[in-house]
Amino acid sequence: METLKMKILAEGTVIGSEILKVDSFLNHQIDINLFNEIGQEFKERFVSNEITKILTVEASGIGIACIVAQYFGNIPVVFAKKHEATNLDSDTYEADVFSFTKNKTYKIRTSKKYINPEDKILIIDDFLANGNAVLGLVEIVEQARASVVGVGIVIEKAFQNGRSRIEATGVRVESLAIVKSIKDNTIVFKE
Ligand code: 5GP
Repeated sequence: METLKMKILAEGTVIGSEILKVDSFLNHQIDINLFNEIGQEFKERFVSNEITKILTVEASGIGIACIVAQYFGNIPVVFAKKHEATNLDSDTYEADVFSFTKNKTYKIRTSKKYINPEDKILIIDDFLANGNAVLGLVEIVEQARASVVGVGIVIEKAFQNGRSRIEATGVRVESLAIVKSIKDNTIVFKE
């Protein structure tokens, strides 16, 4: 997706050799026009699939998922929660996720009310690195005996192994911008 790649080159900054910071349009301030293009692009890529629900993880995934959902006929968005809270149902599906950006393992949870065995789920997230967040979401869908139609990622870092780990489970991955490397402050795309 050319507009996304141009935006990453124009506004993205690099932290070390592995982290890309895109706060100006994706992770802090949100560019709604760009998000609409993202929604349209995911719809085109999954046009032949029946999708009943979108699943993501808080916080950055929520905004993207809500706009994407509008391109799939306003289907519901469910987001996994990262924090235990008294207002979360006690009956939950749970998975452990290791975050390499925070260097810690945390639990993600969704209430059992919102994912059913007949659901056909599109998983959406902002970044794909080592695949732990997405694999945690896949695990939650499996616990619910629902099916994963595919995974839609805004920015994939191909120098980390997320894609191969997810594809090894038989799940299709579609990424809108694939970063090959971010060495020496230079962002290089795969194609
Ligand atoms: P994974 O679970 O695939 O290792 O990492 C994906 C999650 O970590 C995403 O949900 C995202 O929040 C965060 N993440 C991983 N790499 C980056 C990055 O380079 N930049 C930003 N902003 N977030 C990242």
